[in-house]
Amino acid sequence: MLGSRWFRLLRIALLLITLFVVSMNAWLSSARIQSWNRPVWVVLYPINADGRTDTQAYINALSVEHFEEIELFLQRESTRYKLALTPVAKVYLSTPLSATPPEVTSTEGVLGSIIWSLKMRWWSWRNDNWQGPEPDVRIYLRYFSPRVNQVLSHSLGLQKGMIGLVNGFASVDYIATNNFVIAHELMHTFGASDKYNLDTNEPVYPDGFADPQQQPLLPQTRAEVMGGRVKVSPGWLLMPRSLEDVVVGDKTAEEIGW
Ligand SMILES: [Zn+2]
Repeated sequence: MLGSRWFRLLRIALLLITLFVVSMNAWLSSARIQSWNRPVWVVLYPINADGRTDTQAYINALSVEHFEEIELFLQRESTRYKLALTPVAKVYLSTPLSATPPEVTSTEGVLGSIIWSLKMRWWSWRNDNWQGPEPDVRIYLRYFSPRVNQVLSHSLGLQKGMIGLVNGFASVDYIATNNFVIAHELMHTFGASDKYNLDTNEPVYPDGFADPQQQPLLPQTRAEVMGGRVKVSPGWLLMPRSLEDVVVGDKTAEEIGW
């Protein structure tokens, strides 16, 4: 009787300690990033998600220059918010990973996503192949062949854990789109929230608009990074062509401490 009660108490204590350590870590890393007193180190890890040879050929040809746009975007936008830090971020490319991250299941609700995020952090810790200095943010790039007709599942950015999971097509035609998705998930890890309607993909007014004060309001020509789409006219949304057509809006800037 006494034994089983002790066991239960011990389990609860262990769980509380784990939760405490996890949340302290998250709090510390986001506080460190949000103070913006040194460049954020971002490491990208390419993964062949469909096991195809054309996907692998694309991954083998990747170099860090393909992601340069992300650094330029962060520099341009942070300068606009008078952040005096150059560079504001350094993006590195790790060697391809052969392990695949835990599957995301969207049907499991809040508990499911907490469990996934813990699994993801554990997986990330076990499979790190980066040889350089300890990254602040790790982004896993799951590449799929564009020759297979498919809709990619949602990409994710975890602020608690400083991890992003990006699904993208393995083709030079998608470099700009992939970089935009990477920038969006990166902003999540910095503490930014989504600014679009998750059911309709419509950017939310005013925070999800690049130019909310524009008269007339439509057509918008640029996207807000967390709004995700350029609203051209009612019912017509476009992906931005590249990060050149993307801005960090006031609300997002405030959330990430710019
Ligand atoms: Zn998002």
